[in-house]
Amino acid sequence: MDSVPSKRPKQLYVPRPDVEMQCFRCKAKYPATSEWFVKNVFKKFGLEYCCHQCNRKKQQEYRASNPEKVKDQKAADYHKHKDAYLRRATEYHQNNPEVNRLAKKRYSENHPERVKIAARVAQSKRRSLKRTNAGSHTRADVELLIKTQNEKCWWCGCKLSDKYHVDHRVALSRGGSNSANNLCITCERCNLSKGKKLPHEWSNRLL
Ligand SMILES: [Zn+2]
Ligand SMILES: [Zn+2]
Repeated sequence: MDSVPSKRPKQLYVPRPDVEMQCFRCKAKYPATSEWFVKNVFKKFGLEYCCHQCNRKKQQEYRASNPEKVKDQKAADYHKHKDAYLRRATEYHQNNPEVNRLAKKRYSENHPERVKIAARVAQSKRRSLKRTNAGSHTRADVELLIKTQNEKCWWCGCKLSDKYHVDHRVALSRGGSNSANNLCITCERCNLSKGKKLPHEWSNRLL
């Protein structure tokens, strides 16, 4: 199929430092080169009558007044070029181990709780993978449990310290799942005392 001919023929960009061009926005005059003006193949000299400074300002204004559109566009770009993005990010991290290390350090300094919970989640994931128990949970699940239990031990009701345990109601070693609905947050004493017992086998639960 023939492409629709555009009204203006395409112009090749040829720098004309000897010619003066005026920006239609700020009215400033600059040499007709791409150093000063935005390229546009449909305009005379292959340049838009808009200087880089005004173009940047226009883009900033657009971004400021259309934050949602910009966000959508960014997300669309990311999905379209996901592989390239990820490859670049991986390369960057491999080539900048120091930046990587500092970012991790900053994250754990800013979110000590998250890091601690994530470590526990990873630990029980490893244990459940060894036993091929089904199910999984996330840091958010643990945080939600702590909140819904009012930061109290599920079994004895004591106030949870930061040494709380994530207890599998039915232990992984007894075939319990690793998903959130098999979890409760307990004090250290209760979890260690319960061990691998099923809730009904554990007589200490009422003490
Ligand atoms: Zn301008
Ligand atoms: Zn307890």
